[in-house]
Amino acid sequence: MGRSVTLVGEGAHGGRRASLTIAPAGAGAGVVFNVGGAEIEAHWSRVDASKLRTRLAGSGVSVSTVEHLMAALAALGVDNALVLLDGDEVPAMDGSARDFVSAIDEAGFAPLAAPRRRWRVAKSVRVSDGAGWAELRPAPAGLRLDVEIAFASPVGRQRLSLDLTPENFRRELAGARSFGFLHDAERLWREGLALGANLDNTLVFDARGAVNQQGLRFADECVRHKMLDVIGDLALAGAPIIGAFRSYRGGHALNIALLEAAARAGALTPEFERARGEIPVEAAHRPSP
Ligand SMILES: [Zn+2]
Repeated sequence: MGRSVTLVGEGAHGGRRASLTIAPAGAGAGVVFNVGGAEIEAHWSRVDASKLRTRLAGSGVSVSTVEHLMAALAALGVDNALVLLDGDEVPAMDGSARDFVSAIDEAGFAPLAAPRRRWRVAKSVRVSDGAGWAELRPAPAGLRLDVEIAFASPVGRQRLSLDLTPENFRRELAGARSFGFLHDAERLWREGLALGANLDNTLVFDARGAVNQQGLRFADECVRHKMLDVIGDLALAGAPIIGAFRSYRGGHALNIALLEAAARAGALTPEFERARGEIPVEAAHRPSP
């Protein structure tokens, strides 16, 4: 990243206001959250809660709802960043990753003169929970995503397949908002969740459809948001994954369980890619005509 940029907003679950600064970090640092001086690396082994959002904990502090910010960083190719937070939850902004994309664009990109680390899926791994499942399979290049959801009407079944590129993320996924159901609200509030959820940061459905006045941003906004969540959760592998991801009725808990299972099975092998903007050695040494 080129420079620091700050965002301010309320958390969707805790409902508290926080200021978040995304700052450049050196090659190999990964994404690290700094909460009141305590550092937590953005890694699946730090996840301590995954119901409706992904929360990281360590050094006596926690940071909730990291997934939309993580998705924007990963999808735009930011491998290293220091995220300073003066609260315990990443601001929800409009419930999508749009504001995080704008902030990263504003900060700019600084290519680092170091090879980029990647995880290649070397063998298939699958985890399941009831009717839901998630899997990673080997693929020649990039990250291919295939996500399917199945809810009661009016959301219903939705499925989307996409190759993750910065362009696809910006155009197809970044604007898709968190969603919820009106009939779940009271139960979630009792559990201390969704306390900051409102129509400005959540797409809310009742039996007939979206209650938000402006309606849907995409006809299949829900599956697009689920895919955004997948990208954010998979970013907790600590480096981009080369492979094919697929899930049916997945969620944060299954995404994190999949990373854990992949690590345990030795299914992810490290690989290094030349840094962006770096001159290939062959070209640099080629004699001029
Ligand atoms: Zn989400």
